[in-house]
Amino acid sequence: SKVKVAINGYGTIGKRVADAVTMQDDMEIIGVAKTRPNYEAFVAHDKGYDVYTLADRVDAMTSAGIPAAGTVEDMISKADVVVDCTPGGVGEKNKALYEKAGVKAIWQGGEDHDLAGCSFNAEANYAEALGKDFVRVVSCNTTGLCRVIYPLDQEYGVKKVRVTLMRRAADPNDIKTGPINAIVPNPIKLPSHHGPDVKSVIPHINITSTAVKLPTTLMHLHTLNIELEKECTADDVKAIFAKQPRVRMVGQGITSTAEVMELGKDLGRPRGDMWENCVWEDSVTMYEGELYFFQAIHQESDVIPENVDAIRAMMELESDGAKSVAKTNKAMGL
Ligand code: NAD
Repeated sequence: SKVKVAINGYGTIGKRVADAVTMQDDMEIIGVAKTRPNYEAFVAHDKGYDVYTLADRVDAMTSAGIPAAGTVEDMISKADVVVDCTPGGVGEKNKALYEKAGVKAIWQGGEDHDLAGCSFNAEANYAEALGKDFVRVVSCNTTGLCRVIYPLDQEYGVKKVRVTLMRRAADPNDIKTGPINAIVPNPIKLPSHHGPDVKSVIPHINITSTAVKLPTTLMHLHTLNIELEKECTADDVKAIFAKQPRVRMVGQGITSTAEVMELGKDLGRPRGDMWENCVWEDSVTMYEGELYFFQAIHQESDVIPENVDAIRAMMELESDGAKSVAKTNKAMGL
């Protein structure tokens, strides 16, 4: 029988994880939890997901027109694994709930490493999550960094990484955050936490980052500068990236994140998502022995296939990470 997955927090990440799990043949969604009966809750209901909610909101959900299947606790009691996609900092408060129910749980990058004790990226440390009860799928930025740093480290040894993250200010559906007309160094006190979070997955990497927020909703963009232990050429690096199942080399008139997002739509991806890192092939350069390149990261979707692999590792449905990645990608059309 299929592994039973519950989604706690059906927002930007949660709704995507639900659909990606549904596409797999070895796992299924037994319910999604939503706090309010908004349009996303109605779509979830229309798609056939059982909608659960907080104990004091069951009546409100049902009277709004979505027959609530029960409380979050009811949902958890039916699941093998809960994917917690509540806002950063909220997930932490749910740990006691999961422990009490004896259910496995996955948190997202908005929570601290210590909450789960295992920070996950399918390419870099799949095996570490095998059989684990608690796992944290790292943030969109950390996921994007692990996907390129890990294979380079395997092949050539990474001496140090310096990265500047240019971050989208808000997700496209978010009207509450800014800036809308400024560039914000954030944090001003350096380094930023973003790059060093890679060490929660690959501890020995020497990495520092700076980050700025830009008035855009279309992806994050990373400028990477990497020193490698062994000598190699830009073509060697491109050959490694070309072999990565979740790295896409872009060119062909794609000169900005706007065109990357258009490509996601043209490919017919659900919600126009771009699940893989997009590395500009022409940007991959060796200068005085150091590697430079640009990559665009779709904040709303790059962690989605990683959540599917994390479920597979924790439930020990597959012991080989590369096989899980291939299975997930095939089912999603990546
Ligand atoms: P979101 O605000 O889009 O969605 C969160 C959902 O959780 C909402 O539907 C909200 O109603 C619901 N919710 C709030 N409190 C709840 C509770 N107590 N119980 C159940 N549901 C509750 O947030 P998001 O962008 O999907 O982020 C979720 C997590 O994923 C965070 O840890 C975030 O840091 C991480 N993440 C976000 C992105 C991104 O760019 N959006 C990328 C990678 C990781």
